[in-house]
Amino acid sequence: MRTTVLGAGTMGHGIAQVTAMAGNEVTIRDIDEEVLSDGVDSIEANLQAGVDREKVTEDEMAATLDRITTTTDLETAVADAELVVEAVPEDVDLKQRVFEDVAGAAPADAIIATNTSSLSVTDIVSVLDDPGRALGLHFFNPVHIMGLVEVIDAEQTDETTLDRVTTFVESLDKTPIVIRDSAGFASSRLGVTLGAEAIRMLETGVASPRDIDQAMELGYNHPMGPIELTDVVGLDVRLDVLEYLREELGERFRPPQALRRKVRAGKLGKKTGEGFYVWEDGEIVGVSGEGEIDDV
Ligand code: NAD
Repeated sequence: MRTTVLGAGTMGHGIAQVTAMAGNEVTIRDIDEEVLSDGVDSIEANLQAGVDREKVTEDEMAATLDRITTTTDLETAVADAELVVEAVPEDVDLKQRVFEDVAGAAPADAIIATNTSSLSVTDIVSVLDDPGRALGLHFFNPVHIMGLVEVIDAEQTDETTLDRVTTFVESLDKTPIVIRDSAGFASSRLGVTLGAEAIRMLETGVASPRDIDQAMELGYNHPMGPIELTDVVGLDVRLDVLEYLREELGERFRPPQALRRKVRAGKLGKKTGEGFYVWEDGEIVGVSGEGEIDDV
């Protein structure tokens, strides 16, 4: 499918890369020239790493880069697109504006997808006259590594749109799961639930952070335990998601008090050097408050 990716940031360049690798012509559009060229540099670096690890051939790398063009002009970007994927910042008004602009410039039968990770897809696509051709396409970061894509079925999405996009995701060598549009989709809803329960277990002294994490790492084969993952994702990000899920789905998503206190104290996890663990140079070097989470 001739694909246009809107936004060349963290997600946009990754989506463009995997789409071009699967043999599709891709146009990336960003409003910022510098981000566009950084995006292409990142794609090139990812491909080069693949070549170095003998996962990608030199020819595949060259062909992939050949299939990618960039522009800052929206009309040029979407004029002959069969699929448009927007990966602009997480703001519902911006995304709705982008959807309206795309509808005005793209072919009438182009499928339009949003890569939102938390907003209501039903709400975003409601600005279209024909929202049956729109849906959510939730890729994970880093896109070229992660195998899952959530295909979000908005209230208005047509069956044919869903089928075409599901087939498209499979052609990228990714696994699509179809999720009815609802807060947190499947991945965030389950991920933050596990994280929140783990924090409640810390609050009541059930076990230390390391032992709770090991319960999931060694007992359930999770690559990373729920407390460490909360630190990696960012405590502020987790708190926002829980607040949103609570608003949409009810009190069972009420954020644990320990999470709020940490966020108020600016202890946001790996990115600030301390969350539930203490971090140095991207590695865990200790437990925050030596495990006395209630005192924080
Ligand atoms: P980002 O800030 O890295 O990139 C967004 C890009 O969009 C920027 O380069 C910006 O210049 C560009 N932009 C702004 N307005 C635009 C417009 N009108 N047209 C084209 N480009 C425009 O953001 P990101 O992390 O790539 O996130 C993009 C979307 O993907 C968000 O909806 C986010 O929630 C979602 N998402 C992010 C992640 C993640 O881990 N970062 C994971 C899954 C989904």
